[in-house]
Amino acid sequence: MSEKESMTADRIKESVAAVKAERPAYEEILDFYEKLFLAQEVIKRQVQLEPIKISEEILSVKREENFPLINKEDFTVDTKASRGLLREICRLAAEANEMLAEAALKIVDALDKGTLDAPVLFSKVLNEDDAYFDEAAKKLETDKKILAFMAYFSMKPSISLCAEQLATYLDKEVPWKRGYCPICGGPPVLSILRGEGERSLLCSFCGHEWQTQRIYCPFCDNNEQKTLHYFFSEEEKGYRVDACDKCKKYIKTVDTREVKRPVHPFVEQISTLHLDLIAQEQGLESGIPIWLRM
Ligand SMILES: [Zn+2]
Ligand SMILES: [Zn+2]
Repeated sequence: MSEKESMTADRIKESVAAVKAERPAYEEILDFYEKLFLAQEVIKRQVQLEPIKISEEILSVKREENFPLINKEDFTVDTKASRGLLREICRLAAEANEMLAEAALKIVDALDKGTLDAPVLFSKVLNEDDAYFDEAAKKLETDKKILAFMAYFSMKPSISLCAEQLATYLDKEVPWKRGYCPICGGPPVLSILRGEGERSLLCSFCGHEWQTQRIYCPFCDNNEQKTLHYFFSEEEKGYRVDACDKCKKYIKTVDTREVKRPVHPFVEQISTLHLDLIAQEQGLESGIPIWLRM
């Protein structure tokens, strides 16, 4: 997360309230996410992690080759804090809606019985072990996307803290013009326009935001103007969907110059699912990972 929008409880509440007023259809789901984000903030203050060290030698190779600083599996996670947060998220989910409640009950039951092991679950998120989530969801008779989502959001405070610490290793003089995160290599979840129209991308895994080129597809590096397009609705001028004809992927863009209210990137991501539906109806594919596809 950039300093511009560091997650504070007030900022979360302000931005959720503003979006709810604009788009009442999202009220129920935002109620849930607001509590979840606030719980993450509480846990973030308790997380204890050793800093991740990168030697000068490795750092210079990474910079030269445009490699991200670390791989996802190299993130450190405070297991105790994440385990506690997983239970808390399940508790919030149980109060949210039927679909989430059903999944939450099954997850808590499996944690109690020891048939689901939290540290293993966390390590599978870091390793992006899709087969594990297929199998575990089948065993629990629950939705794979919800299981991945719950696990990932439980670890998010640790992941954010690692990303904030690692950001100190980035070369501030050289802009990162790639479509993957300079810290962890993750794909972007959201594109953000600020100030004079500078574009930045928000990492779907570690939440780092990096400034990048204005016109290109972050998923395939395509920069041919004629194969890149976007669409938006007249009622929502602050949002658009950028699509690429080459790889058929899309990314949602929020224009902070048009959205005249507090912007919290992850709140924007959740409260623009109607744009995902339109894009997917057009045969476009989201470039975001499973834990954010809820
Ligand atoms: Zn990242
Ligand atoms: Zn593309």
